[in-house]
Amino acid sequence: GNNDDKELPIYESSVIPGWFSEISPMWPGEAHSLKVEKMLFQGKSDYQDVMVFQSSTYGKVLVLDGVIQLTERDECAYQEMITHLPLCSILNPKKVLVIGGGDGGVLREVSRHSSVERIDICEIDKMVVDVSKEFFPHIAVGYEDPRVTLNIGDGVAFLKAVPEETYDAIIVDSSDPIGPAQELFEKPFFESVAKALRPGGVVCTQAESIWLHMQIIEDIVANCRQVFKGSVNYAWTTVPTYPSGVIGFMLCSTEGPHVDFKHPVNPIDATCCHNKEKQPLKFYNSEIHSAAFCLPSFAKRVIDSK
Ligand code: SAM
Repeated sequence: GNNDDKELPIYESSVIPGWFSEISPMWPGEAHSLKVEKMLFQGKSDYQDVMVFQSSTYGKVLVLDGVIQLTERDECAYQEMITHLPLCSILNPKKVLVIGGGDGGVLREVSRHSSVERIDICEIDKMVVDVSKEFFPHIAVGYEDPRVTLNIGDGVAFLKAVPEETYDAIIVDSSDPIGPAQELFEKPFFESVAKALRPGGVVCTQAESIWLHMQIIEDIVANCRQVFKGSVNYAWTTVPTYPSGVIGFMLCSTEGPHVDFKHPVNPIDATCCHNKEKQPLKFYNSEIHSAAFCLPSFAKRVIDSK
């Protein structure tokens, strides 16, 4: 019983063969793991490593550069919130742009809005689109909407070429800021977003976790306050398979008709569930919309001070 002589053994079965562990410098010292039933796809695109596996409890899982992008079981929480938080906050959205989001899930959600006339998407990596069409038909179904136009390319370059005041809403469904999505978190990108939006137009961008990335969030909020002269808000939701189990969104509007994101003016709760062609919403409703803007005190202090 003398621990001074030899070190206690590390609990070795915590490194489990047959499990996928999400290890990244973006969340040092922790790694969420899922049991792998079957490896379905492994490829290398021009931009990233792409992997799909069947997990034992979350359905199929899409992984880019070792980071979980979605699972069939909890993708609804992310896709519904990143889409309906902005689109339910304005009346009659007509032109919508999606940056990233190659899996098609955000498109699927945008297409629930009957006021929308045009949906453009710019995804950098065609392999993500192809893999989603092959392995995630309930997500890639978004591409079947005739209002959708797919552009393969860098979202930063795409936005620079967009004429001013084109879109009612822009949704940035990006991966983390290490890798091809890095520029999507920087100020010049937000400036292009603001230019491409009509007055009183809205943007919603993936904005990391309050448990892990308060520093990144602070920077994003500070940039957005300089760029967006309407309103600037942070919202969050739970996604069990994202690091720390939560993910946030920046919701901003440009100068013009005031947008009060906390009080949705364009609810879809009633209509969507009576549309026979579509699955009902699994996660989003108007109550959760307003609740998403309530922040824990530690995050509220930092975000309000920016
Ligand atoms: N929809 C996913 C979910 O439910 O969690 C979120 C991740 S989505 C797959 C992120 C996408 O952003 C990836 O397909 C990635 O290729 C794309 N992306 C990264 N950088 C980009 C850029 N600069 N321009 C356009 N798309 C980019």
